[in-house]
Formats: sequence, structure tokens, C-alpha cells
Amino acid sequence: MQKVTKNKWVIGNWKSNPSSLEQAKKLAKEIKVMNFSEINGQIMVMPTSLHLTAIIDEMQNSEVLVGCQDVSFTSDSVGAYTGDCSAEQMQAIGAKWTLVGHSERRSYHQESDKQLIAKIENAFKNGLGVVLCIGETLEHYEKNQTLNVLQKQLSILKEIKQLADNLDRLIVAYEPVWAIGTGKVPQVAEVENVHKSINDYLLTINNDLAKTPILYGGSVNADNVENFAKSDWIDGVLVGGASLVADKFASLAKTFFATKK
Ligand code: PEP
Repeated sequence: MQKVTKNKWVIGNWKSNPSSLEQAKKLAKEIKVMNFSEINGQIMVMPTSLHLTAIIDEMQNSEVLVGCQDVSFTSDSVGAYTGDCSAEQMQAIGAKWTLVGHSERRSYHQESDKQLIAKIENAFKNGLGVVLCIGETLEHYEKNQTLNVLQKQLSILKEIKQLADNLDRLIVAYEPVWAIGTGKVPQVAEVENVHKSINDYLLTINNDLAKTPILYGGSVNADNVENFAKSDWIDGVLVGGASLVADKFASLAKTFFATKK
């Protein structure tokens, strides 16, 4: 099947790193001075909510976008939701995109489909883009249930009322849970097949989702990124551990975009 051209992305998910604001600002400064002017796509970093304002300030006048890792399920912009940050608050401080449904949030916070739907709707209502993370566990992978799991996770998009108005604000990140932070990566051919299926499934929801970038995430680093980038079906990478060292992240990003040229 011929694939339409999609936007290309390299995204760094800093998770709950680094341990201090000073270190986060240093990392941002080091990434900012790397020259990304030649790249044919977008680079984004996603710090903790605590460091977000400072990193948005650091990245002013650079090619690097800044997003957040989560937004609250509540559509209230303020209120009694201890520990939560609303999509409106995230947008107001300058975040452009948010992760939704990262496997660490699904497992440590038991995020339900209902909550994920609410989060996506809140993000869209407030002008944030959504990187929807999906992925199967090792058990599902070994039982050949990957596609069923992914379709179920993607099916929440059918419930998003404002989807048609936000087609350019959606990215899907396929992250096999067993590949995250483990150093184990699937074969590129396997990822390709999964991405084709994701693409097909998205088209059953809305034909215009043909343009939705589909990223791979899970133990991507500067050494293996070229293999992923060679595939026409991999529109970007979502990177955890390897996004925390500026020169490695920069080299990963440059290799990715150079291979895509
Ligand atoms: C992630 O958590 O989104 C991720 C891909 O992590 P890592 O690159 O460390 O596997």
C-alpha cells in the first residue's frame, strides 16, 4: 500500500528526570545550542510538569518544541484535583503537546479508557496536540495479541467528539511495553507491520487520519535509530533514556532526520 507523506518527529520524554531544576535547565541549554536548522521535521522535549515553565523559557527562540507528559482528566480548568494540572493550565504556560496514555501512567496510575478520552478531549479543547501512546505487554506479544490490544487502545479515538477538528493535533506512538527502558527492541519489520495495521485501523475511524504520524518508542538510541528511520512506515521516534544526554539525543535526532531525507 502506498503511504501518504506524514510529518516527522523526534520526541524526548524526560519522565521524572533529571533530579534538579538546574540539571533540567542545563540539559535544555545543551540541546538548544545543537544546530537543528537543517532538519525536515520537528523535535520536542517533554520535561516534568515541575520543570515545564523553566524549560519553555530556555527553549524560546529555538527549533525545539516543549510539551508535557500528562494533563488532568477533569475538564475543570481549576479546582480540587490534588496533584493534577489541567490542560488549560498547561496551555497557559506554553506547552504545545501532551502525552496521553503512556504505559507508565496506564500501569502505575491505572488510567482507564474513560480517563484517557477525557484527557484527549481536554487537550484538544485547549489547543494542545496529543501524542497517544499505545503498546502491548510482553504477555500479549508472546500470545500474538498485539494487534487486538492496539486496536482496543486506539478505539477510544471513536469517542472523541472534536477529533475531526483536531486531525493535525494527533500523533500515535507505538511503544511495546516490553521494549521500554529494557534495551530490547523489536525487529524493524515487525514494527513496520504493526504501523501498517495502526494506519489501516485509523482509516476505519476517519479517512483523514491517513496523515497521522505513527512513531515508534522503546529503547531507541543513537546507534539503532537509523534502522527505524529507514522504514517509510516509521514517522518518528519517542525516546526516553536516550533523551537525557544532550549530545546523544542530538546525534539521535540528526541521524533520524538525515536518514529520512
Ligand atoms: C518511553 O518511555 O517513552 C521510552 C520510549 O523509553 P526508553 O526510550 O527509555 O525505552
